Amino acid sequence: MTTWTHPVGFDWIITQTAAQHEERRIELGIKPGWYNIGLDFGITGAQGRPCMASRAGTVKKAWLDPYTQKDPNTGYGNVVYIDHGDGYVSIYAHLQDYTVKVGDKVAAGQVIGHIGSTGNSSGAHLHFEVRLNDKPIDPYPLLYQGEPTVAKPAIPPLTENLRATVTINSLSVRSGPGKANKFIRYVTLNSVYQVFEIKDLGQEIWVRISQLPEWFALYYQGDSYARFSNVTPTSDLVARLDAAVLAAKNANAPTVTIDTGDLQDLLQMYREKK
Ligand SMILES: [Zn+2]
Repeated sequence: MTTWTHPVGFDWIITQTAAQHEERRIELGIKPGWYNIGLDFGITGAQGRPCMASRAGTVKKAWLDPYTQKDPNTGYGNVVYIDHGDGYVSIYAHLQDYTVKVGDKVAAGQVIGHIGSTGNSSGAHLHFEVRLNDKPIDPYPLLYQGEPTVAKPAIPPLTENLRATVTINSLSVRSGPGKANKFIRYVTLNSVYQVFEIKDLGQEIWVRISQLPEWFALYYQGDSYARFSNVTPTSDLVARLDAAVLAAKNANAPTVTIDTGDLQDLLQMYREKK
């Protein structure tokens, strides 16, 4: 099995999957072959970051795509095509520049150019495309098969106590379940949210985390960005804590007084959960 290396890095976010490229093509009313599937990668400060060859091969094309609208394979801006010699060709589009020329032999992981927003692009990102016998295929399994992936979590029943704990830095909150929805803000590592709604979209699990339409991905294409945590009231502890908070609110008190017995119980509950 041939190993593919990541053209930008596993820390980059997939901003458009292959399936979303196809959805977008249909949405825009573009004929098949004129808007190819691939993976779009983005990250904060993407512009100018290095783009690497995903496999060893020979540079077949390295040019500024003229975007004539006569050729279906156009709009790529500065683009590099690498022929891997076994029917596979990888394509790196919208580059700021390329540092290789036609006929060059490149190694896997070798820098071939820098990320940009040339051609048909609305911001600095990499459109990474893989063609097998001239047909664009989904590069996802090629890049991510070797990565440790987290098993898709089982979805617990939605109760008042179901929480989601964020397990990565800067997780995007969106206006709906799915990356096509509007970005609202980031939430940070270890923050905990009550779960109001769960959407299982097969390779994606999204949770709504407020009364507003605010969602984040709990699980997305083999990666887990948060986990479910379920606080089970083992006694009347939660009710006592709620009562303490309510009393403090009513009294306009700046702090909530919780008796030490309750804290002991809370610690015990936490230990049992671990
Ligand atoms: Zn793309």
